[in-house]
Amino acid sequence: MATAKDPICAMDVDTANPPGGTAVHAGQTYYFCSNGCRKTFEKDPAKYTS
Ligand SMILES: [Zn+2]
Repeated sequence: MATAKDPICAMDVDTANPPGGTAVHAGQTYYFCSNGCRKTFEKDPAKYTS
């Protein structure tokens, strides 16, 4: 199973079935452990991707 790091909480998330869904920022897809983490990211993506 492939995993990616949730940029908010640094948890490993299953990329095939991310519990918090995904977001695309600057051409890169990010995966989230929860809706809360995704919403936090979407509020200020640059803060978590720089
Ligand atoms: Zn998270």
